[in-house]
Amino acid sequence: MTHPTVPLSTPLSASRDPLQRMADGTLKQLNPFTGTQVWTVPGRGNRPLSVPQKEPEQLKPEDFTARCNFCVDKLLQTPPEKSRTVSRDGRWEIIRDLLPHELGDTQAAFRRVPNLFEIVSYDYWAQNYGFTMDESRANQMERYLADDEGRRHVLDIVRTRLKASGQDDNVSEEELLSHAPAYFGGGHDVIIARRHFIDGATDSTQLASSGTLSLDEHYGFIAFTIDSLRDLYERNRYAPYVSVFQNWLAPAGASFEHLHKQLVAIDERGMHSELEIARLRQNPNMYNEWGVNFASYHNLIIAENDHAVMCAGVGHRYPTINVYSKSPTPEPWRQTEEEVRGMSDILHAAHAGTGPEVPCNEEWHHKPIDLDVPMPWRINIKWRVSVLAGFEGGTKINVNTLSPYDIRDRMVSSLYELREQGRISKEIRIATECAPARNVLRYNPVLGR
Ligand SMILES: [Zn+2]
Repeated sequence: MTHPTVPLSTPLSASRDPLQRMADGTLKQLNPFTGTQVWTVPGRGNRPLSVPQKEPEQLKPEDFTARCNFCVDKLLQTPPEKSRTVSRDGRWEIIRDLLPHELGDTQAAFRRVPNLFEIVSYDYWAQNYGFTMDESRANQMERYLADDEGRRHVLDIVRTRLKASGQDDNVSEEELLSHAPAYFGGGHDVIIARRHFIDGATDSTQLASSGTLSLDEHYGFIAFTIDSLRDLYERNRYAPYVSVFQNWLAPAGASFEHLHKQLVAIDERGMHSELEIARLRQNPNMYNEWGVNFASYHNLIIAENDHAVMCAGVGHRYPTINVYSKSPTPEPWRQTEEEVRGMSDILHAAHAGTGPEVPCNEEWHHKPIDLDVPMPWRINIKWRVSVLAGFEGGTKINVNTLSPYDIRDRMVSSLYELREQGRISKEIRIATECAPARNVLRYNPVLGR
């Protein structure tokens, strides 16, 4: 780190302003939470985003159901499903622990399956902490392996994994089964959406993204992800944090062009979090002061509704949109359905406004489960477009071609259009329609709300 000396724990007025406009138009940004420095040089922001274009390819009927291993005809190409969510009479219901022969009985809008290749493995928890899966997971493993099709499925999955990692898969069944616990009691899950392409798509560029889901489907996606988040915390007493993220398209790190999120239980709060927590202890109101209030004073609020607010991020290496939950409840799984729907609607708008052709990362941030200081649930959407200038290595200053104002302008004009077309929530207030944001995040009990 070359810039930890910036006195961010002092009030911002006493330190450097996060936004500094130079006479030539260069905009210097300093991320008040992480200390990241970014410069935007003038005259480059109005160009179209440099998104890699793919040749459209005409779709065949089977592309809708079998294009990749996350598609609906390939339910057994993923490890055993932990849960799924289905829409019944206008309500979202979660069904857990199905056996292979039951998978066709309902249509899953979203499925939760263990990641074939865990980032933090079951063995990591077992060997470092003495972790063992709880009784209900162990029972499900036993039940699944006692089912003929289930057993074959698990053996196939383990062989696939061994082969893919260059190991010999020609080993005894006992050896294969020794890998099974990872697929029942592990802490790295994937949430997979039903569609690969949008309904009625004619060519391969028409992928189903977060922003192309209906509002209710997007809420189902978020509510189901939150249920999985709660579940991972409950089942692993050694994990202070569960990381939630979505990589959209290959430049953002996705292995399939099929909409999915991931959850990974980890045994740390993460580097940025520790720095951020130290700052939060000194200024419990910093997400208002340095986040939303600051954005409001600088006309960087993009949109809001009663439960969430979206602003253009300051001081990010990649152009970033911040979405904050206004809820007084830091834990997403303790929030009301209305609050989660509000957050989901704003997040949906952020994706729709970004456009399905833009590779992006969606990163959730929430209060680590053992942290005593409240913080709001917030989500960053990073546009993984090519914006770097090759200047970064020596200086740790990132040069980004899109300023927060450029991001705001792009988003605001596309949101007006999308709202007009009925493709995002009608309840969303955009730009100047937003109320002045003064301490609108209610997580901070010091404010007495
Ligand atoms: Zn697919």
